[in-house]
Amino acid sequence: MKISPRAGPPANCSSMSTRSRIATVRERLGDLDGLLVTSLPNIRYLTGFTGSNAIVLITRRKAVLFTDPRYTLQSVAETAGSGIQARTVKGPLELTVVKKLKGLRKVGFESGTIGYASWEHFAKAAPLEPSKGLVESLRLVKSEDEIAAICASVDTNSQAFTAAIGRFRSGMSELDLAAEIDYQMRLLGAEKPAFETIVAFKANSALPHARPGAAKIDRNGLLLIDMGSFRGGYASDMTRCLHLGAPAVKTRQLYRAVLEAQLAAIDAVRPGVKAGSIDKAARGTLEKHGLAKAFVHSTGHGLGLEIHETPRIGKGDKTKLAAGMAITIEPGAYLRGHGGVRIEDTVLVTPTGVEILTPTPKQLTIL
Ligand code: ZN
Ligand code: ZN
Repeated sequence: MKISPRAGPPANCSSMSTRSRIATVRERLGDLDGLLVTSLPNIRYLTGFTGSNAIVLITRRKAVLFTDPRYTLQSVAETAGSGIQARTVKGPLELTVVKKLKGLRKVGFESGTIGYASWEHFAKAAPLEPSKGLVESLRLVKSEDEIAAICASVDTNSQAFTAAIGRFRSGMSELDLAAEIDYQMRLLGAEKPAFETIVAFKANSALPHARPGAAKIDRNGLLLIDMGSFRGGYASDMTRCLHLGAPAVKTRQLYRAVLEAQLAAIDAVRPGVKAGSIDKAARGTLEKHGLAKAFVHSTGHGLGLEIHETPRIGKGDKTKLAAGMAITIEPGAYLRGHGGVRIEDTVLVTPTGVEILTPTPKQLTIL
């Protein structure tokens, strides 16, 4: 489980990879004549386009990206050499796309991201069929470029954590510290936080998805920080716990139990094992410590162009892990009124096991 140095931040998907990704989509069309792609992360994955408004139509012969005039130059530049035709249209994109569907016998659509109004437009032009995560299934295993992007994102995130903690002063509020973390991320090269940064002190840390508030961080207690960055379009995710003053015996025991569960789950990661068995390793350890009921969420999730992707590392999940999957391992235990502990790393499934990408140490840091 060594951490090996990796190359610096890579660019977007290269035109080579977008070409082969679109070719793979075509191979998997089955009896569909085409696929309508409306999920922006999927569009980015397939075409390299990073704008906020687009629809892609992939048929047996053509791949066209429709966007609006704000993105004319950007769409041409980002899709150059990919074999994708970038088209700017005025007005709602659907009205143009609908014309291109005429004559197609069956078209796949992304049921998880399409709006009802768009679906109604398209359904008038051609028979539609949900595509059931076709593009997402390609995104499960990351390419070398994507792994390098995730590593760069993870490193930036960890550096932002260290920088922000270095600027911590007793009396800061949860919101102050969250703002410092977000600021440091961007200074260090992230585009933005991958989700709303969690800074939770004392009893608030017992809420797994606490929102930072005006509470002052100034007395003895647990401080939980869950933060992620987007860099080069790719997400990172990490949770660390710190303690103001000397921790009580109960807190030390809680921390040790969660750390043991996290290490057991990481140890279980290798190609071929089911996602559910990783969750079982964490859950079983916490159960042994009498904390089964205090662990109220799943052990982790995939991440990449989105902060939450498949596989879900949860109870009974049958997805088999494969080399190249990037996942988080984040068991936690939450004691009402006392506080909560969660320890989260971003890890990579490798051909022989696992590589922990997150470089930040995991001992309970005393502030
Ligand atoms: Zn997290
Ligand atoms: Zn997470």
